[in-house]
Amino acid sequence: MFYRTFNQEMVRRFGCKVYKIALDGGFTCPNRDGTLDTRGCIFCSGRGSGDFAFGGEEIEKQLEYAMALVSEKNKGGKFVAYFQNFTSTYAPADKLRTLYEKAMAHPQVVALSVGTRPDCLPDDVVALLSELNKTKPVWVELGLQTIHEKTAEYIRRGYTLTVYDDAVKRLKAAGLEVITHMIIGLPGETRQDAIETARYIGASGADGIKLQLLHVLRGTDLAADFEAGKFTLPTMEEYIDILVECLRVIPERMVIHRLTGDGAKRDLIAPLWSADKKRVLNTINRTFDILDVQQGSALKKN
Ligand code: SF4
Repeated sequence: MFYRTFNQEMVRRFGCKVYKIALDGGFTCPNRDGTLDTRGCIFCSGRGSGDFAFGGEEIEKQLEYAMALVSEKNKGGKFVAYFQNFTSTYAPADKLRTLYEKAMAHPQVVALSVGTRPDCLPDDVVALLSELNKTKPVWVELGLQTIHEKTAEYIRRGYTLTVYDDAVKRLKAAGLEVITHMIIGLPGETRQDAIETARYIGASGADGIKLQLLHVLRGTDLAADFEAGKFTLPTMEEYIDILVECLRVIPERMVIHRLTGDGAKRDLIAPLWSADKKRVLNTINRTFDILDVQQGSALKKN
């Protein structure tokens, strides 16, 4: 068994390690501005998943600050400019063009990645992304999280699976790379449900996948349900077990962008084991080593 890591893929494509810089384009999202809802997805912190971006600053400044933070590890290195906050295509195409072009103009930025929802990709935005893709690679990250409609309703995602399918089709037809996000440990979902989501994403045409652990963050409606005992979260061992099974059903060509979550520690209520990311990744890698020996397979990592 083989999986293609983000680092391996970056070295193959750009010849060195590449860091992702989270940028805040000042967007909102239809689940927050009242278009679909005002409450947001049930797990969303209200900062739109962008807890690491330097919000409120010009894009050039945000890039500078973030590059300075990793300058020791990545002197003169290469970066992916990642518009992470909220729905980063949720604005008129001319405004998006200005923001994206500013980020792409930096000589150390080798690719643009845009985090969004499949229902926020009108044709003019897809055309813009496709045009920019001719200058530097452009990736579109879709927060699908699950293929199961019952869970999608519970998390208040606000669109159906067919909307995702259609978006992937249009993005691929426009020559863009697609990375799909899924969450393991969603309330009411079994191990098998998560595996089905991974399998579906693998067959959907997406080029990459981000596997993330459900984080319960302070102040969210999810936290209220958790504190009311309405669901439990996987232990680290259970999480890794599901993760391994998901990796088994994902095609080898797909890039695995993430193996676990990366939530803001100050707001994390559960699972607390996930706060020690180093320990989690070490345990994942150890588990893969054991499985490789037992099964004579190669769960590649770096
Ligand atoms: S779509 Fe994204 S930004 Fe909007 S509420 Fe959901 S998680 Fe938050």
